[in-house]
Amino acid sequence: MAGGKNEVWTLAELRDGKLHTVSYELLAWGRSVADALGVPLASVVLGENLPDAAPLFQHGADKVYLADDPGLKNGLADVCAKTLADMTQEFEPQVFIASATTRGRSTMSLLYAKLGCGLTADCTGLSVKDGLLLQTRPAIGGNVMADIMTPERRPQMCTVRPKSKKPLPPDLSRSRKGEVVRYAPKKSALVSALTFLGFDPESRVGLPIQDAEIIVAGGKGMKGAKNFALLDELARLLGGSVGASRTAVDLGWAPHSSQVGLSGKSVTPRLYIACGISGAVQHLAGMGGSEIVVAVNTDAEAPIFGVANFGVVGSTLEVLPRLIEDLKKIDRKGDPR
Ligand SMILES: Cc1cc2nc3c(=O)[nH]c(=O)nc-3n(C[C@H](O)[C@H](O)[C@H](O)COP(=O)(O)OP(=O)(O)OC[C@H]3O[C@@H](n4cnc5c(N)ncnc54)[C@H](O)[C@@H]3O)c2cc1C
Repeated sequence: MAGGKNEVWTLAELRDGKLHTVSYELLAWGRSVADALGVPLASVVLGENLPDAAPLFQHGADKVYLADDPGLKNGLADVCAKTLADMTQEFEPQVFIASATTRGRSTMSLLYAKLGCGLTADCTGLSVKDGLLLQTRPAIGGNVMADIMTPERRPQMCTVRPKSKKPLPPDLSRSRKGEVVRYAPKKSALVSALTFLGFDPESRVGLPIQDAEIIVAGGKGMKGAKNFALLDELARLLGGSVGASRTAVDLGWAPHSSQVGLSGKSVTPRLYIACGISGAVQHLAGMGGSEIVVAVNTDAEAPIFGVANFGVVGSTLEVLPRLIEDLKKIDRKGDPR
């Protein structure tokens, strides 16, 4: 049996049976940690009819653990956590990194409870200090960065924010190979208390916001749920997705999956259009990596203008319909955007 003691592990994720890009982002984090510790980097994949492991090797893994079983088909958090608990007890990795996606968060929180070790959620930075994993994450409303270490328990476990690191450039020569370890889950681990009902896509328009190149986001200044239809229309015309501030989500105008910010998602689009969003520090924490920011706000002193490349002082309810009309005219002329 392949020994795994002291390895650094990452939890790969599947969407529609294919490896999701967060799997490669995690390998970029894991590679720097494994290199600093001088140990192998392994990726763990759970599911049924698993895809080829080669892309994981191309993106930095030295080893891939495959747990391929019909019982893991829908990625239910409890069966995944039980299987991972068995695997970590058997192979004894020293570090286990997952993504702070819905799947990663739900699985890792059950796993750490089972193992009785720590879990630092939502990290934005990982490094190694004195042979231990140094986990950095925003704390106290995003006003300080906290450094957290887990000296006593193993594995040292954390989730990292999607998009907080770019995947390593793939080695497309296919020369980079590694070891594949096939793991047969225990029957007892595959008994679930959950029932899979179906899959609801995250976004009404376009890609999930963490994958979108263009985001049109709305806040309290949208003045009501029905006006989010303007954001939907603008996002459709631009080929983007719709995001929201926490206030808009709390008011029930947008789903939680679209929340941008400290307690929502981190996004790094090429274009972020903030409509009726004040620019609170917790919101900026999630969209500060956007390439170009456009803000529409009635208050010329709103903090969002401090990070905007272009600003419109005006009401969303007047500016957005005009913008949409203009874009439709460009569309009608067949002008390439
Ligand atoms: C621990 C913690 C975590 C948090 N996490 C998040 C998070 O993840 N994401 C997040 O967004 N917030 C988060 N918040 C909340 C954050 O502090 C703000 O309250 C929130 O971002 C404000 O949302 P908003 O900009 O939509 O609303 P407001 O701050 O009320 O701003 C509304 C803006 O709309 C403008 N406006 C009003 N009418 C119009 C109009 N007709 N046209 C154009 N503009 C108009 C106003 O001038 C104002 O600037 C968090 C807070 C805490 C304490």
